[in-house]
Amino acid sequence: MLFDQPGIPEETVVAVRKSAKTGRLPQSVLLTGGEDKLRLLCGKELAAAVLCDSPVEGCPCGKCKSCKKVKAGSHPDLVAVMPAEGRKTVSKEIISEQVVEKLYVAPNESENKVFLFPDAQDLSPIIQNALLKSLEEPPPFVMFVFLCNRRESMLETVISRCTEFSLGDLQAESKKKEAMLALQTAADLARALCGGTEFDLMLAAAPMQKNRSLMKKTAECFALIVRDAMAANSDAAFLSQHEREALLLNSRCSVTALLKMKDAMEEIRSYADNNANENLLLSKFTSSLFNAMQAEEQRT
Ligand SMILES: [Zn+2]
Repeated sequence: MLFDQPGIPEETVVAVRKSAKTGRLPQSVLLTGGEDKLRLLCGKELAAAVLCDSPVEGCPCGKCKSCKKVKAGSHPDLVAVMPAEGRKTVSKEIISEQVVEKLYVAPNESENKVFLFPDAQDLSPIIQNALLKSLEEPPPFVMFVFLCNRRESMLETVISRCTEFSLGDLQAESKKKEAMLALQTAADLARALCGGTEFDLMLAAAPMQKNRSLMKKTAECFALIVRDAMAANSDAAFLSQHEREALLLNSRCSVTALLKMKDAMEEIRSYADNNANENLLLSKFTSSLFNAMQAEEQRT
């Protein structure tokens, strides 16, 4: 089955399979998002689907000569449009020689032929413009497949001539993961601070190593735990999702110490915004919390 890979949004899988089943895969496809490997795999699957000698419901059989050649990258009717050796980007000459001049040349072995652009995000606007005419009215046996990790690098005029399938929003996915990790790290820091040694605190802070953005997010989460700790004796609702850690801080720290921690977190956030050195920032993160706690212990 087409796009039989984990992580691809359900609606994309449904849409691709539906159009393959009716034998109507779009002539120009833009695959966006997902990881590079997945995108290439899906692009090749689409190519195999239209080049296969005996497709079943629009899906490549995976066994015929054509399918095997697509997989091996040796099918004469699958043209991967890539930069010339030693060059970083696809030149206008390549577009002319490999695409524009060959557009109406009949396929060699299969009934169709596919122009695959494995790194469409690197195509300059000039190159994309040079492709527009070909995209507009391709002969019926031609399919274009653009693989692109940054949709915003594609011209609207190109996007509008393609059917777009998203393989998942990696950015949203990684942001979500980071937010979860920040929540977890902030809670670990609070527990280490209340019960552990300076070494425990460093261990809890380890995920933030060389990750300025995670430090910033963790500082925000930790500031919320501190805020909850300060409000724990009132009727205010908990905001940090870490009630237990907030109560722990509340039981161990004076308001003065909590205020110091809150200020420290604000400082970390502003340093992180100003691109402070990551190693120094991490050490400031742990030492400022540790010092606030130490002052507390000396006081009592
Ligand atoms: Zn096949």
